[in-house]
Amino acid sequence: MSTVSDYFGCNVFDDRVMRATLSADIYASLRKTIDEGKELDIGVANAVAEAMKNWAVSNGATHYTHWFQPLTGVTAEKHDSFISPSPDGSVIMEFSGKELIKGEPDASSFPSGGLRATFEARGYTAWDPTSYAFIKGKTLCIPTAFCSYGGHALDKKTPLLRSMEVLSRQALRILRLFGNDTAKRVVSSVGPEQEYFLITKEMYDARPDLRFTGRTLFGAKPPKGQEMDDHYFGVIKPGVAEFMEDLNKELWKLGILAKTEHNEVAPAQHELAPIYTTTNIATDHNQLTMEIMQKVAEKHGLVCLLHEKPFAWVNGSGKHNNWSIATDEGQNLLSPGDTPYENAQFLLFLCAVIKAVDDYQDLLRISVATAGNDHRLGANEAPPAVISIFLGDELNAVLEAIENDTPYQGTKRTRMKLGVDVLPKFKKDTTDRNRTSPFAFTGNKFEFRMLGSSNSIACANIMLNSAVAESLRIYADRLEQADDFEAALRDMIKETIKDHKRIIFNGNGYDDVWITEAVEKRGLLNYRTTADCMPHLLDEKNVNMLTSLGVFTVEELRSRVDIMLENYCKSVTIEANTMINMIHKRIAPAITRFTADLAKQASEKKALDPDLACSYETELVQKLSVLTDAIVEKTDDLDDAMLALQDAEDIIEESEIIRDVILPKMSELRIPCDQAELLTSKSYWPFPTYGDILFSVK
Ligand code: ADP
Ligand code: MG
Repeated sequence: MSTVSDYFGCNVFDDRVMRATLSADIYASLRKTIDEGKELDIGVANAVAEAMKNWAVSNGATHYTHWFQPLTGVTAEKHDSFISPSPDGSVIMEFSGKELIKGEPDASSFPSGGLRATFEARGYTAWDPTSYAFIKGKTLCIPTAFCSYGGHALDKKTPLLRSMEVLSRQALRILRLFGNDTAKRVVSSVGPEQEYFLITKEMYDARPDLRFTGRTLFGAKPPKGQEMDDHYFGVIKPGVAEFMEDLNKELWKLGILAKTEHNEVAPAQHELAPIYTTTNIATDHNQLTMEIMQKVAEKHGLVCLLHEKPFAWVNGSGKHNNWSIATDEGQNLLSPGDTPYENAQFLLFLCAVIKAVDDYQDLLRISVATAGNDHRLGANEAPPAVISIFLGDELNAVLEAIENDTPYQGTKRTRMKLGVDVLPKFKKDTTDRNRTSPFAFTGNKFEFRMLGSSNSIACANIMLNSAVAESLRIYADRLEQADDFEAALRDMIKETIKDHKRIIFNGNGYDDVWITEAVEKRGLLNYRTTADCMPHLLDEKNVNMLTSLGVFTVEELRSRVDIMLENYCKSVTIEANTMINMIHKRIAPAITRFTADLAKQASEKKALDPDLACSYETELVQKLSVLTDAIVEKTDDLDDAMLALQDAEDIIEESEIIRDVILPKMSELRIPCDQAELLTSKSYWPFPTYGDILFSVK
């Protein structure tokens, strides 16, 4: 194991291994299942299971698990060993096709939002052969989808696979209209850029807020934060470099194409980006990446924080979802082509995205909604909660020319019937200047920038794929009926631009003026919090679109609203309780001890010399006493407010109390605590400060 190419993918049952270990017939059948979604018969499954087991055992595995992504947001696994007793008292290692295809974890301990009625307490997992099995530790992990016996999806992968399927189906209809008879599938791909913080384990252990909630609930502004801009792309510290080296190695062994790593804006903040791949694999890989990051950090005496806002005063962490769609023949449908016809096709797909993002702004917002991410969106460090599309000047000019029937001035080449010249290839540097846009065209892909760092990318891509599939469905319905294809195409593109140009915004998304314009003039949605947006998942237009495409059932949507709002309420409730606890047990006693000692010092000094003013001690005692009173009062206030949660009629009302009462009270409570931290001697303060934590890794 010396060079990267020697060990890349060594823990993956990938195409190379399949080819080497399966007979030609079996390999061909399996490939058909993977590439074309053909059903797998049990004979083939048995042969694949046998080969998989032999490969896994020879690579040190003793167990296998169906690896899946329940609605908790983390991955789940239940390990079974391969052993099976033999009549002579020994064991043999066994693994059947049935065990490969289907598992039956006890579904009752995973959130189902009421989907799993008591009569169907069990759910089952089903192998997703399009994502390769892999070995983690001593366990063969088989990527699976997780459903209830009633057939409802209890996970994020099932709807993701469905959304990829519908997108492919609708995109193929369009491609056929443009004369492409050869493409068999259209696949969406994603490259997620993952941000995270690294701090030492020592600092982490000393902060109950980090341990219980993943973020700090207190902490005064440090003397130095990110204002010098000296961390972004700066030299990577040795401790971090060692971590990254190890992390890359572990990811590469799992066939994850970790490619770019650099420091981010905030101190202690970093980013890792893989090379993009098929969406469901990218989703699995991103989940694994987050898990491995945390494991590798631990080995280095560090903790990797994936929370969206671990620290106030410095930027939080997000995830950029770079998304494109391409045919199985490798044609990127979001890349302007070389011929007028390809250009028209590009414009149609572009319009499909514009229409999708405008029609389903709410679904995109919902897909990134968590209590943690609410701290970022609209806080001038991440895109606002209002969704808009950045296209860049060049592409914008093309669309304006089409809308107004004026010639596009960009190039001198032949004009086409559609009314535009051959489009230029859009270079990244002309399209990627705007960093404040939630949804930016970057040359041959869109970058959706609202995701939180801990989010599964599944949700965002389910909504994106489905909404674009819906635009394409509407287009295909119309174009298939048209007598004059080119005229219909031209009309439709023009119509889309007219109807949906309100979603296009090339200016500064952080500007308050934009939010006012977006909401008041353009009528765009501004759902600031999870509590605001989540119930809209059940709006009629959303339910109609998602159910008619077959991506979700109504029951699945209802269950998701419940689960997401429950997560929101639970996260904030835990935070509030942690705050109260930290104040009673540590902060208030520490300040009191410090003030008592100050008072004692002052009186001892005065005993020596009654003329001494002792103004330092006296003033500090006074200030801290006032702050302590405020802290105690606000803590009691928060404590009382928590009681109201018990009287909430339903989860929607509970989430509104969280949004309107609990969160504001928590912010209020934090202020005097942070002021007291600044005034209290370091030797008395019970927790490491922001300065200690953010600059802890050497
Ligand atoms: P940035 O400047 O935002 O870091 P990069 O060009 O480095 O942009 O790409 C960021 C991510 O986008 C990477 O994961 C990369 O693999 C991915 N990416 C590049 N091309 C595509 C594409 N056609 N579809 C999806 N993702 C892509
Ligand atoms: Mg990016």
